[in-house]
Order: sequence, then C-alpha cells, then structure tokens
Amino acid sequence: MDYRPKACIKCGILNEKNNTKIINYGWRFTNVKLPRSGERDVKVRLKKRYFKCLECGSYFLAQTSLTTRNHTLSRNTELSCLEKLTETVSMHHIATKLNISSTTVLRILHSYGNSVKPHYNWLPAVINMDEIKSTRDAKGAMSFVFMDGMKRQFTDILESRTIEDLTKYFKRYTKSARDRVQIIITDMNYTYPKLVETVFPNAIVITDRFHIVNNVVVGFNQTRIRIMKKFAPSNIKYKALKRYWKLLLKPNGKLDISVYRNFTNIHGLNTENSVVETLLGFNKELNHAYEALQAVMSSVRLRDNSRLRIVLDPSQEYPEEMEKHLASLRTNQSFIENALRYKYSNGPLEGTNNKLKVLKRVAYGFKSFLNFRLRIHLMFSVKKVPSRKAARH
Ligand SMILES: [Zn+2]
Repeated sequence: MDYRPKACIKCGILNEKNNTKIINYGWRFTNVKLPRSGERDVKVRLKKRYFKCLECGSYFLAQTSLTTRNHTLSRNTELSCLEKLTETVSMHHIATKLNISSTTVLRILHSYGNSVKPHYNWLPAVINMDEIKSTRDAKGAMSFVFMDGMKRQFTDILESRTIEDLTKYFKRYTKSARDRVQIIITDMNYTYPKLVETVFPNAIVITDRFHIVNNVVVGFNQTRIRIMKKFAPSNIKYKALKRYWKLLLKPNGKLDISVYRNFTNIHGLNTENSVVETLLGFNKELNHAYEALQAVMSSVRLRDNSRLRIVLDPSQEYPEEMEKHLASLRTNQSFIENALRYKYSNGPLEGTNNKLKVLKRVAYGFKSFLNFRLRIHLMFSVKKVPSRKAARH
C-alpha cells in the first residue's frame, strides 16, 4: 500500500510537488481481519508505506479505509459485529462467528454505547411500564422497562424498580418533559402510581386490562383447588374439577350449548355449558367465586364500569382467595376504571418483553446489566444500522 500523501496527518503541512515535505521511510506490515468467508477465516497481510514528515519530524503510516485508524479489524467486521449484536445471539457466538475475541465484541458494543444518551428534555405522552427479571449483577431482582405507548417504541431499561430509584431517574428529566406525560399504563404493581404524585403531576394511571383479569383468574383457581382437595383424588368430582379448569375460565356466553358428547369423569352426554353447571353444582362457594370471575371478565370485555362497581362492592362476600384478589382491585379501583374507560393497554410492551427474554436466554443470563442495556438499545434502534447488504459491501 503506497501513495503520495497530500499532507502530514500530524501537523497538516501540505506536501507540494515542488517542495516535498514528506519522505518515504520504509515499510510496515499489518494483519487485517476480514469477515469470515464460509467456514474460513480471512486475513489480509498488508504492506504499508511508512512516512516521515520533515516539517514536524513525526512518522505515520499509509491510511486505509479498510480499517479504523490504529485498529487491525476491518470496518466490515465491525459492522457485521454491530449487526449481530442486534440479533438474539450470545456475544460468545458473535466472537466465534467473526473470528474475533470477546473483548473486541465488547469494545464494539461500548463504542456504540456512546450514542445511547437519553434526551432529558422529552418524554412520551403515553408511557407503558413493566418489568423483566434482571441480570445477575443488577441492583434489584427485577428491572424496570418503559416505552412510548403511542409510537410503540422501547425507551429505556433501569436496573432497579424501587420508588426511590425511579423517582431519582425521572427527576433528571426537565419539568416540562414530565408535565407532558398524560397516561401511565402499569401492571398490578402499585409502586408506579406513586410516581404520579411526585414526578408526573398531569398523568393518570391505567391498570393494564390483562393484569386485572389475570388477578381474578388467580383468585378463582386458588378457590377451585381448595375445594377440589376436599375430595379424595380418586373421587370423580376431584378428577372433573382438575380436568375441566379451562372451561371454567372461558367466558360463560361462549360455552357451547348445542353439541352433546362424552366428557371423561362426567356422567352421560353433555355440552360444555352443562359440564360447567355440573362442576358448579358440587359446591356453593365455587359457584359464588365463578360468578365473581365471570362478572369481572365481562365488565372488562364490555368496558362496563357500573357492572364492575357492583362486583367490587365491599358489602359482597366472596370465598377468601377471591376476596383477597378482589381487595387488591378495590384498593386501586380508580386505575381499573380508567382501564375500562380508555383504549390503552400494555399489549404493545409484550412483544418488546418477549424479545428481551429471548436475548437474556441466549446470552445465558447477562453478567453485566450495562452490556444488557446497551444491546437492548442497539436492538431497538436496528433501523439506523446499515442493512445486511450494505454491511457486506
Ligand atoms: Zn508533520
């Protein structure tokens, strides 16, 4: 590799034809790693001209667009590495594939990290909040994830979800950014609503609909299991209650009433509907819990707050397990009524969370939260990275 330099890269003096300031000063050899071709490693042994500047007395090498200055890794390999980091594969896998060291993969990840800086003067108007199991070194057992509910875009992940840490984090945003936030959608975790009082004065809280229903489903199943265990495991009632739990969770109006067939452990020919009636006939408490479950499910489905208020009325008495779960709905009834009033849910966050879970699994539980967070940011900004084709050329 040889050429006539236009100027000294150290002092900038021009190397004019009639007045040569830069002289050739022998050769140097470097090895450049290219992306693997099939199963073969590809290396270029590059013979580069070494120059001396007579003006400032410094030495420098011929420059190539093949590598970043002072690196022996080709730009193409760096791009392939960045691209692979956006996929749900382990860093070890990337290092092996590209024939580079794990340290190099980390260096490339961290070089990207410099561009991951939150903009503290802007927050989305609708924020989805959720959590995911943390990395081993993280401060809390669960990490806090939040995203833009309108654009359905991942915003950031925090290693702790305590009220103190969340307050501290969000307080870094400007007052006008925080004032912009109008809606916060959460699961049944009631740490997050407290943020409304301290950092998001203009926001309302919506409990995610899935979590409302799930809460009563858990209460109902606990009741069913307690009642099932009143019978011996050999008893036909025990077996039926164990076998047909899914039918009990199905919306009552959607049970089939026309097809008669054999159901194991239930006497005679039955429809789905008559099976449910038989099961509920085993026990009064179970029947009562079922009514509450179905009432909550249909209130949510039909967005019927007046019906929900009747179920949650404290004068009603339910089996203890059901009561416990309905009580937690009562404590935050206004957030739940908001869920029936507005169309927002945490649905959009599910896809993001699934992607994060896959990434965590393939990476064998990230040791470092910092690396995990960087990779997530890289993964969700993948559109900014050159396409597959571009990276190869
Ligand atoms: Zn010079």
